[in-house]
Amino acid sequence: MLMPPFILHHPKSVNEACQIAADLIDQNQEFDWVSGGTDLLANYKWRINTKPNVISLSNIPGIDKISNLEIGCMARLSDLKGKSVHPIIAEAASKIASSLIRKSATLGGNLCLDTRCFWYNQSEDWRRSIDWCHKADCGTGADCRVIPNQNTLCVATYQGDLAPVLMVLGATVHLIGPNGERVMPLSDFYQLDGMKKNVLQKGEFLLKVTFPKESRQRIGSYQKLRVRDSWDFPEAGVAASWIEGDVKSIRLATTALESIPKDHTEEIEDLVNSKWNGKESIKSLAALIKKSVKPVNNTALPPNYRRSVVQVLVKRALSKINGDS
Ligand SMILES: Cc1cc2nc3c(=O)[nH]c(=O)nc-3n(C[C@H](O)[C@H](O)[C@H](O)COP(=O)(O)OP(=O)(O)OC[C@H]3O[C@@H](n4cnc5c(N)ncnc54)[C@H](O)[C@@H]3O)c2cc1C
Ligand code: SF4
Repeated sequence: MLMPPFILHHPKSVNEACQIAADLIDQNQEFDWVSGGTDLLANYKWRINTKPNVISLSNIPGIDKISNLEIGCMARLSDLKGKSVHPIIAEAASKIASSLIRKSATLGGNLCLDTRCFWYNQSEDWRRSIDWCHKADCGTGADCRVIPNQNTLCVATYQGDLAPVLMVLGATVHLIGPNGERVMPLSDFYQLDGMKKNVLQKGEFLLKVTFPKESRQRIGSYQKLRVRDSWDFPEAGVAASWIEGDVKSIRLATTALESIPKDHTEEIEDLVNSKWNGKESIKSLAALIKKSVKPVNNTALPPNYRRSVVQVLVKRALSKINGDS
């Protein structure tokens, strides 16, 4: 499949990247950021919402740093391993796509991944044959195919693996753009809208993720449901973390079940603060998460099946917890 034409910009610094973005905004020109290109370029080849300009972050030095408390946006997924990387991040990264894709794919691209839907991630001819859908309507005003008879809401699914893991480690995201830097908890970064996806403003990109020192004390697990273990996107994912011997510190987050990855830590507060009863408490947590998630019918596996499996994934994610405290 042929790549559509676009102008590729190659800034050599963060400031230059922000300046290019500001200039394009002034000229009323549309653009996308590209990092590893493993998601964006595949969508471009399928003529999905292509833009005339693409700004690559790959020539900016220093934004691929990996340390205990910070990971830069251009860090490659294949490098998310070893002593400087939290073991749950390494576990989740190793389950993303295939080894070849992980060599190009980046942390920033993973966190800003486009939402997915089987009416949308299709070739141009396929989408034309169903008269398009709201998210890529080609100017026709087409309805959504999942929530029909409306063209204001898109419920495409966020299917990135790293976000829930970073959430349960208390990650903060640093965004940068022509108007300066903004910092916020990762759980506030996502927006429940399959088209807007997150709170990035025009011209902003995700620069890095930082972690509190407390994250190094945390242990946990990431559990993923996918069709083929060799490379498929998650159909459901559950991340859990806790501090050894302290069940009140449990954090849980999910992915691939809505348009955003979801931090459930507040929701489970009452349960983890009441008397801990080992397996029974874990069972109650699993039932609560099952009730809370709202998958729709737009990925490979049916929503009811994904909700049922979430219960199992929560139990597996918490299976190593020491419930003595
Ligand atoms: C066959 C296949 C299987 C896959 N399986 C998985 C999987 O199992 N799990 C999973 O999580 N992903 C999967 N992916 C998706 C993708 O490869 C990864 O999520 C990858 O980490 C995306 O990173 P990238 O750098 O290639 O992103 P890109 O393709 O460069 O960008 C992705 C999106 O993020 C935006 N973007 C990129 N960097 C930034 C930034 N720093 N700031 C703001 N916006 C940015 C781009 O504009 C684009 O919209 C799969 C892809 C393929 C092709
Ligand atoms: S959820 Fe609806 S609007 Fe969004 S991509 Fe799917 S069919 Fe299109």
